[in-house]
Amino acid sequence: MEFSGRFYAGGKEDLLQQIKAELSDFRYRHILGVGQTCFELAQKYGVDAEQAMIAGFVHDYAKEKSDAQFIEKIHAKNLPLDLLNWGNFIWHGVVGAEFIKDELHITDEAILNAVRRHTVGAPFMTVLDKIVYVSDYVEPNRDFPDVEMARVLAYSDLEQAVIFETKHTLQYLMSTNAKIYPDAILTYNAYVAKK
Ligand code: GDP
Ligand code: FE
Ligand code: FE
Repeated sequence: MEFSGRFYAGGKEDLLQQIKAELSDFRYRHILGVGQTCFELAQKYGVDAEQAMIAGFVHDYAKEKSDAQFIEKIHAKNLPLDLLNWGNFIWHGVVGAEFIKDELHITDEAILNAVRRHTVGAPFMTVLDKIVYVSDYVEPNRDFPDVEMARVLAYSDLEQAVIFETKHTLQYLMSTNAKIYPDAILTYNAYVAKK
């Protein structure tokens, strides 16, 4: 699929070249898989497939930037200072969206919000947000015990896929005694917990 220019001024090859320059080969393969999965899920769930593919391609654009670069951006953009208590896994989404705006000149807020929410979700997610969140988890290069189940859900029931991913990610993080970002709990309460 060629790009229309509605979300990114250059063409697809130009965007991918800019992203490739920022990422290891391993992660570049990942974002290609996420972009393709986003494209497929967008067609299935009736949202703009070009917008979804671009969101998938850029979602981890900032993942390999240094902590110092993220900290500088948090200050430059007057983002909440509580972010300083977290690390790359939170920054590459929330702060990563600012790098995407500033360096790739993508300003579509729906794409940027999907990037911001791709790691821990949010209590309210648009269909595009859910597609990026789920595609990140099930793209073809992913391999973990529950991935086949997650894939079946992704292509059959997006809401159930969000629930499955949210629950399993939290279970995994708790099993390793990881610190849980509060928004991850809000996502859990909104999508997984019984009312
Ligand atoms: P990736 O960027 O494609 O590797 O995938 P994600 O953006 O979804 O996740 C990045 C990392 O953050 C993964 O290792 C997740 O397990 C981890 N992660 C997600 N939510 C939390 C959280 O609330 N706390 C902690 N400590 N890690 C989390
Ligand atoms: Fe990520
Ligand atoms: Fe990712």
